Amino acid sequence: MAKNLVLILNCGSSSIKFAVIDPQSSLVSLSGLVQNIGSHDANIKYKQEKQAETHKLPNIDYHEALVAIIKIIQSFKNITTDIKAIGHRVVHGGEKFTKSAIITEKVLQAIRDCSTLAPLHNPANVLGIESTMREFPGIKQVAVFDTAFHQTMPEYAYIYPIPYDLYQKYGIRRYGFHGTSHRFVCNQAALALEKNINKCAFITAHLGNGCSVAAVLNGKSVDTSMGFTPLEGLVMGTRSGDIDPSLHVHLVDNLGYDIHKVTDILNKQSGLLGISGTDSDMRTIESKAIAGEKRALLALEIFCYRLAKYIASLTVPLGRIDALIFTGGIGENSPIVRERTLTWIKLLGFKIDLKHNDANGKENNGIITKEGSPIAMVVPTNEELLIAQDTLALTLNS
Ligand code: ADP
Repeated sequence: MAKNLVLILNCGSSSIKFAVIDPQSSLVSLSGLVQNIGSHDANIKYKQEKQAETHKLPNIDYHEALVAIIKIIQSFKNITTDIKAIGHRVVHGGEKFTKSAIITEKVLQAIRDCSTLAPLHNPANVLGIESTMREFPGIKQVAVFDTAFHQTMPEYAYIYPIPYDLYQKYGIRRYGFHGTSHRFVCNQAALALEKNINKCAFITAHLGNGCSVAAVLNGKSVDTSMGFTPLEGLVMGTRSGDIDPSLHVHLVDNLGYDIHKVTDILNKQSGLLGISGTDSDMRTIESKAIAGEKRALLALEIFCYRLAKYIASLTVPLGRIDALIFTGGIGENSPIVRERTLTWIKLLGFKIDLKHNDANGKENNGIITKEGSPIAMVVPTNEELLIAQDTLALTLNS
């Protein structure tokens, strides 16, 4: 029987992920990625049922990487014939996109226009869209934006307290990212708690290599920790999160750093990596902390402490919490991070159930707190599935 499969393309700055998904059953027929594009150790990995392959593609450029991916997808003829639509993860939709959109020439131009806001990502997203338009003519394509979910933030949450002109003339404001993940886990949590999403107050903590929290009231984002770029907010794997903006001028004037070096340090050499001096990966940080390594312990504590402060601050726009949701690689798999964070915000009354927390929420419907406590829960994210669902929903009846 013919299926309605959706091809998902997630074009990052140096890697491209792809997957072919059935949005109804959530089954993945084919998935893979090209990583380290442009370097000598670039390679492509893909998996179809039990068959997994890796091929080296030394010094491949971005365009060639897209060609290699499309060739692999097209080599699975039985899958290709069932692809009914293509969904693209697009990082920045500026203020133009408040939800996912079918890609037309006008939409594509608007995505190009947002490149000044995401110079590393939007041009890559555009290349991905142009390639699939060429190679899969006649198949409808949809853009799903990281920023769109947060476009419901009120003005007082997204305007920076800097000259208002900078917003009016240049769009300098808080946008927020990880929107697909925050939206997906809120929907899942409402289902698990048997509540109407339109009557829920959630705080979502997406903790992966990049980390952000969001306050979601009645299904709409009302505030989030990331801002103009994904650098603002929480401590992340290699990003600093919030720092004093005067640090830039201090490092430039007193230490002779180039401004781009400062940006590079804050994005790529800070966070867990910067504090520990050795690791950006939370698994390694945790095992070193457990072994008593001081800098790893400090990195873990700063991560949890700052996360707790942000969670507490997001109670302001909500007034109440139906659930605090942990997701992403760290949020879903780290009992230590969840426990330390909930301990820091004890004023909010969370009483953790250690057994359920250790089981990463795989029992008790995801809930990791005791009966009678405000609810904290673990909800696995699945951004690809939401992209596939949006894509199919928009294209089926268009
Ligand atoms: P990305 O943001 O790149 O999608 P992920 O959501 O996969 O990343 O999250 C990666 C992070 O999750 C890494 O810091 C990794 O160490 C962490 N992580 C994965 N599994 C565990 C685990 N069992 N315990 C602690 N951290 C984990």
